[in-house]
Amino acid sequence: MRCGPSVTPKDIDLQALRDKYAQERDKRLRKDGTAQYIHTGGGEDPDFWENDPHMPPVVRDPIVDDVEVVVIGGGFAGLLAGAHLKKAGVDDVRIIEMGGDFGGVWYWNRYPGIQCDNESYCYIPLLEELNYMPSKRFPDGVEIYQHCRNIGTHFGLYEGALFGTMIRAIRWNEATQRWTITTNHDDELRARYVVMATGPWSKPKLPGIAGLHSFKGHAFHSARWDYDYTGGNTTDTTLDKLADKRVAVIGTGATAIQIVPYLGRYARHLTVFQRTPSAVDARRNPPTDPEWAASLKPGWQKERQANFHAFASDPFPSIPATEDISCDFFTEVGRNVSARINGHANLSTDDLAAIREEEDYGVMERIRRRVDDIVEDPATAEALKPYYRYMCKRPCSSNDYLETFNRSNVTLVDVSGSKGVERVTEKGLIANDQEHEVDCIIFASGFEISAQDQKVASGIEAIDGRDGLSLYDHWRDGFRTLHGMTSHGFPGMFFTGYTQGGGNASVTANYVQQGEHIAYIIAEARVRGATTVEPTVEAQDDWVRTVHELAPPNTFLEQCTPGYYNNEGGGNGGIRAAIGERYAAGFYAFDKLLDDWRNEGQMVGMRLIK
Ligand code: NDP
Repeated sequence: MRCGPSVTPKDIDLQALRDKYAQERDKRLRKDGTAQYIHTGGGEDPDFWENDPHMPPVVRDPIVDDVEVVVIGGGFAGLLAGAHLKKAGVDDVRIIEMGGDFGGVWYWNRYPGIQCDNESYCYIPLLEELNYMPSKRFPDGVEIYQHCRNIGTHFGLYEGALFGTMIRAIRWNEATQRWTITTNHDDELRARYVVMATGPWSKPKLPGIAGLHSFKGHAFHSARWDYDYTGGNTTDTTLDKLADKRVAVIGTGATAIQIVPYLGRYARHLTVFQRTPSAVDARRNPPTDPEWAASLKPGWQKERQANFHAFASDPFPSIPATEDISCDFFTEVGRNVSARINGHANLSTDDLAAIREEEDYGVMERIRRRVDDIVEDPATAEALKPYYRYMCKRPCSSNDYLETFNRSNVTLVDVSGSKGVERVTEKGLIANDQEHEVDCIIFASGFEISAQDQKVASGIEAIDGRDGLSLYDHWRDGFRTLHGMTSHGFPGMFFTGYTQGGGNASVTANYVQQGEHIAYIIAEARVRGATTVEPTVEAQDDWVRTVHELAPPNTFLEQCTPGYYNNEGGGNGGIRAAIGERYAAGFYAFDKLLDDWRNEGQMVGMRLIK
């Protein structure tokens, strides 16, 4: 299918909408920003993080061992680092994972209705290498979880993996030139290299509502779904035990959009507490066409990711709109912008920005009018309309979410004033001066994605490099890395994620890129007889300067409604982009930079310690 620009309303008053967006943002801004949340783990609310509803606790003796590479985290980031290490001939790899198996977010998040949100042909990594084709465009979570396990099997990563194991501390030992890693099982692993692959979505957070612990009913976080309580299981979404239960959901982000239709169908009553509505489009989720799959040529997945990235992430895609392969809500604004600008070579920066803004407002207006078409009660419909710019929050799609609010057993409670839900009581929640009695509260309140404090985000008590330098202190005033992957004072330690690297619209493409680069460095260091490697302080500082010099102003994020994309509107910490800083030249420029760096062969900026 060739995909052209979408049809969006043209009868909109831009200035009136700009004012409305600003008003809606201001009413949600809070001084406490990210500090509003209640943390889980580290002695605070361990049930919401550390307890595993999917597997019994692991009981085993402590392990004391030397190992070449320890990878912390067995989600996609860790699996892809492990896979590339194995491919590079580094065999002695131990993945340590707190869950009972590989999978990361796909291990933990097993709530009813969980599916991939980014099209799977881009998102699910190593499809060609594992000769696997997803069953549909947005497959169910169990399928992706299985793919994670298949990666583990394919690359021999189960060997040596430690599941049900939480890291306590990681400390550099100058005498042995190794890292000592301690865990909740009293293990002591001495690793030459450590790859941090804990992922930004791994640690649930709870809403900062007074009295949260006074509730006497049942409560759990969406990432720790309690099927014993709700009925059903990961493959059967019949939540029959909720038939006599009044259920509250806090949060209306990407997770809630997937959960709410099931709760609406099965609970005696469902009350959804909404602070900010998501933008929800229709979901086109056809099964994979076998003929299309058979027609694909080697290298197709990388090409598709590049195409998706161009429309989903580039503000002004330089390819014709009709080439948008995924043709999705994620790519709609980019596609419409591309249709306007292609063939017009001399547009000024202001012209481009104006076109982008118009297309953005048009798409969001289409989404708001869609709410009116679906939701019967006008007041509920109005509350469900998102008044902010596209990509201030994650775009969502569902064919059942908005429809759920037409059910007689479902109530939407708008808590959009900055105080949100006012209080949790023994019996339920108080909002807008009214108590809502419920039997169960489900927190779809997200993850510590933009926590200011790295220790909170990682949940690891200490990461101490040379001379006892704490990584948390080292990065307190800003990340300091070479290429986002290494840091001076932390020899042989590697980082993955969005920090000071490229940033692809398919997060797993970042992990592939980083896995490949990290594996190259470790394999090369071994070939060259090094004990470990470390970036020089000059190379690190140069890279930080480059990232900062290229960084665009935060104007867009400043104008956004609060959320994790703009660290909750800033609060006292000021606005910064979610999940660290990006190398603003873009993912593919960064990819080339890394490729050139490796081809040059000198490991420029990296000290090999012998
Ligand atoms: P989010 O952080 O996106 O949403 C948290 C929700 O909780 C928001 O609606 C937030 O409101 C609300 N909230 C927080 N505190 C309060 C409060 N005190 N009172 C009322 N409401 C409150 O978390 P999600 O788990 O939904 O999604 C996180 C990310 O995980 C997604 O953006 C996506 O990247 C990923 N994800 C991917 C999926 C996939 O691909 N299948 C599916 C689900 C998630 P407010 O907006 O006002 O802050």
